[in-house]
Amino acid sequence: MNRIVVPPLLKEIASIFASHGRGAFLAGGAVRDMLRGARCADYDIASDAPPEEIMRMFPAVIPTGIKHGTVTIRYKKHSIEVTTFRHDGVYHDGRRPGSVSYAATIEEDLSRRDFTMNAIAAELPGGRIVDPFEGRADIVKKIIRCVGRAADRLNEDGLRSLRALRFASQLGFELDAELLRAIEENPAMILPVSVERVKMEFDKIIASAKPSTALLYMEKCRLLEMILPELSRCRGVEQKGYHRFDVLTHSLLACDYAAHRGYGQNVRLAALFHDIGKPGTAKLDNTGIWTFHGHERLSAELTRALLSRLRYSNAEIASTVHLVREHMFHYTDSFGDSAVRRFVRRVGEENLRDLFDLRRADSFAMTGVEPPLELCLDFRDRIASVLEKSRAFSLKDLAVNGHDLIEAGIPAGKHLGIVLNSLLEAVIDDPELNNREKLLQIAHQWV
Ligand code: ATP
Ligand code: MG
Repeated sequence: MNRIVVPPLLKEIASIFASHGRGAFLAGGAVRDMLRGARCADYDIASDAPPEEIMRMFPAVIPTGIKHGTVTIRYKKHSIEVTTFRHDGVYHDGRRPGSVSYAATIEEDLSRRDFTMNAIAAELPGGRIVDPFEGRADIVKKIIRCVGRAADRLNEDGLRSLRALRFASQLGFELDAELLRAIEENPAMILPVSVERVKMEFDKIIASAKPSTALLYMEKCRLLEMILPELSRCRGVEQKGYHRFDVLTHSLLACDYAAHRGYGQNVRLAALFHDIGKPGTAKLDNTGIWTFHGHERLSAELTRALLSRLRYSNAEIASTVHLVREHMFHYTDSFGDSAVRRFVRRVGEENLRDLFDLRRADSFAMTGVEPPLELCLDFRDRIASVLEKSRAFSLKDLAVNGHDLIEAGIPAGKHLGIVLNSLLEAVIDDPELNNREKLLQIAHQWV
């Protein structure tokens, strides 16, 4: 293919560049994805116009990365990044170019890019392809290859190793042998890279169609032990009995299943980390079977530490850790209604779906066989019927509040909270009690 079909929006933008005597090329991921016949998320443009000039050409331009020659044009409700042709200066620390200088041609600009598949441009508005590093051939072969010598390019920016593995998971491509060898020979190049950049790539791996592709490459290249040692320690931890696989393979299968089903980030992360407490709790019982009592608590603790280290937000951490801690729930129909209500109160009604999704992923990963559709169905039905009878799970659902109690003569103060919580416990045991009269009566008996 020598040309791509250029969307009308980009033609309009190109005509504005042209009216100022400047060129514009679609570059990077958008061209790669169009050539693969995939939807592309966002457009990146490369141009010979310097940022200050672009800011004068369009009414709404945000200087998003002006130090690196990047601005974002807001045009007809779209955001389009435009980067001035550049070559990166000398890299001093394997993290970021020490300086950026502008390049004269698109070919020069493409030569600073990481992989051949990302170093293809399409001239606007016509769509003629510029492909000096034979990226198209690599896309056809599904190969990720560095522009230039892999070892040199990884030395410039250690994040490129993880980017390569991220693309492998996203696109289903393989690493070229030279690139793989360069990462294997020097995985520590990732160490000086900022945690924020590592997290962004790790997030994209988790969001990809098959996270295990990158994670297995990471294990092979020893990036896993550097970035996620808790997970790498799960290799070889056998759990024969219920399981077919060791803990690491089980975790990868669970995460892939969650991705395959389109579950959210928290469920995918929980699927990957739910058993990382197993190496630390493994004990051989007297029948020769490994047990992992309390592993869900250790897994939750380790997951919290690991996600904090990667600077996940408090909300992301709380949601994932909660799922990990609760993943061992069980149910039999001998449960009384109050036991079911206590379970819902502990897990939170809003998290039930995620927890059951996690159970499906966990269950799949024990054998590699799709679990039956009825998995947990009896428990879910039971929860629905118990919820129908009563939804009092938190203080706000109680038929009385603190004011009511004070009005009824119960002394204000710390004691009041204890009374309210005890009333809630009583209502969880017996929802019939959840009316004003009965609750005030009980409260009076207590004080
Ligand atoms: P996506 O946006 O779908 O994740 P992308 O290829 O657009 O994929 P970006 O991270 O948005 O990836 O980067 C845009 C382009 O900038 C890349 O295609 C590549 O050409 C170049 N690029 C990005 N990061 C680097 C890097 N660390 N080293 C060299 N070139 C890079
Ligand atoms: Mg992009």
